[in-house]
Amino acid sequence: MKIICNHCDGQGYIEIRDCTGEIQREETCVFCQGMGQILDDNDED
Ligand SMILES: [Zn+2]
Repeated sequence: MKIICNHCDGQGYIEIRDCTGEIQREETCVFCQGMGQILDDNDED
């Protein structure tokens, strides 16, 4: 089962913003490794 990564909202990357809210750069989401989804290993249903 795959679930959408909450950290990046399924985009696979995080927008790094400065204090003014301008997007500085995009960084690969470490939680889902850029997949945008997290594989749920617990598939014992
Ligand atoms: Zn993510």
